[in-house]
Amino acid sequence: MDEKKPELLSMLPDELEEYMKSIGEPRYRARQLFEQLHRGLRPEEMTNIGKATRARLAETSELHMPTIRKKLVSAIDGTVKYLFELYDGNCVESVVMKYKHGNTVCVSSQVGCRMGCAFCASTIGGRVRDLGAGEILGQVIVAQRDTGERISNIVMMGIGEPLDNYDNVIKFLHLVNHEYGLNIGYRHISLSTCGLVDGIERLRAEDLPITLSISLHAADDETRSRIMPVNKKYGVRALLAACRDYYEATERRISFEYTLISGENDTVEHAERLSQLLNGELRRNGAQHHGGMPIHVNLIPVNEVKERDFVRSDERAIKAFIAVLERRGIRATLRRKLGPDINASCGQLRREAAGQE
Ligand code: SAH
Repeated sequence: MDEKKPELLSMLPDELEEYMKSIGEPRYRARQLFEQLHRGLRPEEMTNIGKATRARLAETSELHMPTIRKKLVSAIDGTVKYLFELYDGNCVESVVMKYKHGNTVCVSSQVGCRMGCAFCASTIGGRVRDLGAGEILGQVIVAQRDTGERISNIVMMGIGEPLDNYDNVIKFLHLVNHEYGLNIGYRHISLSTCGLVDGIERLRAEDLPITLSISLHAADDETRSRIMPVNKKYGVRALLAACRDYYEATERRISFEYTLISGENDTVEHAERLSQLLNGELRRNGAQHHGGMPIHVNLIPVNEVKERDFVRSDERAIKAFIAVLERRGIRATLRRKLGPDINASCGQLRREAAGQE
């Protein structure tokens, strides 16, 4: 049987060195190759590498650089949304957002998702497969090359649950942080999770100073289990305990995402429960940490998905919700919607493309 060929974008420089050695190439070529791959060049475009070497590369390795299947640019704020095609024809989405502090790319970690959140478009067809480390990296590389502007920040908030593809995500973090490559600092990377507690514990032990973002969406088990099935496995208390441990180990601020869904999780009652939970669970032992763990809640009016019948909260409910949090000393911001004209939130473009086939 054919042995599996190594994939070029998934290898760190020392692994690339081993591989180059195995095909009879000198070590220094590995660094050259790594640097150029991470700038978005394919071996056939690398003029400083001889023809014979390029032929050997093509023969003995694979390259899972995504290609742009579709690209939408917002006329309002310049947000760019990509539908990327992967080597096997599957598609994922990435979004480049332009902020004053730099360009941020939102990347996908899986084709589809198996977490089953009731309001989310990405999970509708289940999980098709995990992305390789090189395929996650490839989204950043191609986005940077195509926009022609440096990407300085990454959020893992696209399609998929990153902690459900743990090893490839960790490998991706090492690759994208590497000084010969994109060299993006861990502090400029956020990972968003629906709350896989064992994954959060493993991540804590990696000791990478990335920002953790928790998709909370409800503060009591009954409401949360109704909209997020993962909560039946890891309840709210266990999740918050994992967050506290993560903070104590890394001293990195954790942000909480809270999608406001009319009538479902957006009443004053829900806001009180959220305040109580965060103040109680996270600030309980806070004194030894500079006056307590800094808590930040991002409120996001739900994006209406055509397959789902959830409705976004109205202005009055949102204002009342924020007022409760403020009164209880919890900092909250209402997320500004970027790229409203291109429907830049993830998951829906891929479904459209799948529907056309
Ligand atoms: N699986 C990870 C990351 C992908 S989802 C996670 O759950 O965090 C990125 C964010 O978008 C999550 O906070 C998710 O709950 C939110 N989201 C999903 N569908 C949404 C919708 N229709 N409206 C608003 N936010 C949504």
